[in-house]
Amino acid sequence: MFLRGSKLSLPLGIVFLFGTLLGSFLNVCIYRLPRKQSVVWPGSHCSTCKKPIRPWQNIPILSYLLLRGRCGQCNATIPITYPLVELITGVLLVWIWQQHGMSWSFVHYSLLVLLLVPISFIDLDTQLILNVLTFPGMVLGLAMSVLAVDISFGQAAAGLLLGGGSLYAIGLVGDLLFKQESMGGGDIKLGAMIGTFLGPQVLIALFLAFFLALPIIAIGMGTNRLHLGSKLPFGPFIALGTVVIICFGPALYSQYFRLVGQF
Ligand SMILES: [Zn+2]
Repeated sequence: MFLRGSKLSLPLGIVFLFGTLLGSFLNVCIYRLPRKQSVVWPGSHCSTCKKPIRPWQNIPILSYLLLRGRCGQCNATIPITYPLVELITGVLLVWIWQQHGMSWSFVHYSLLVLLLVPISFIDLDTQLILNVLTFPGMVLGLAMSVLAVDISFGQAAAGLLLGGGSLYAIGLVGDLLFKQESMGGGDIKLGAMIGTFLGPQVLIALFLAFFLALPIIAIGMGTNRLHLGSKLPFGPFIALGTVVIICFGPALYSQYFRLVGQF
């Protein structure tokens, strides 16, 4: 299965494998960053028995299936999120590759995805969006706007202000309405970070995030699992809205303009 990129052809399988290997590293980040542990040392080990994971037990997705979701040494259950993170990262990189081929745009959007995946899973796990990811992410986004052709530096800077500013403003309104903190500082910084990659388009990603979160909130409140004052991690929704823009943005816009053109 070969795909013709702008300059180079690469089997999609290699991109997928590359993505799952990066996903495997993201798993290490997701586990260790909230615990303030180094992501490079020591090497991969089981979080239950602490024994090092042998290379053949560390093959993305495949090892999880072969070991039937258990540590090869102490039999402890390996969370399903491990192969899931590897799969999601692999699929997203393949999707971006199909759109952009070997180009700075591929690097640009892949870097954003490689930030969004750990941010989302850490938020689901700990209800925290870590500065150690969002701040370097903002710098990376601004730097990529200089290197890549997708957006200008001015658009990246505008995206930073719009992404962070709009969530800050929504948070202020929410605080007044609900008389409690409604938007976490981490969400605001995440919005700003995504803005540096997407430019002003970040507003559409955030709109989609609310659009995706509303049914979940409605179901949660309908079934009494959520109530006013409950904390719902919003980071994964922001990430999901952003991924929709990365993967389907151009198609969405052309549909939208076709619809608008009919009136
Ligand atoms: Zn173990």
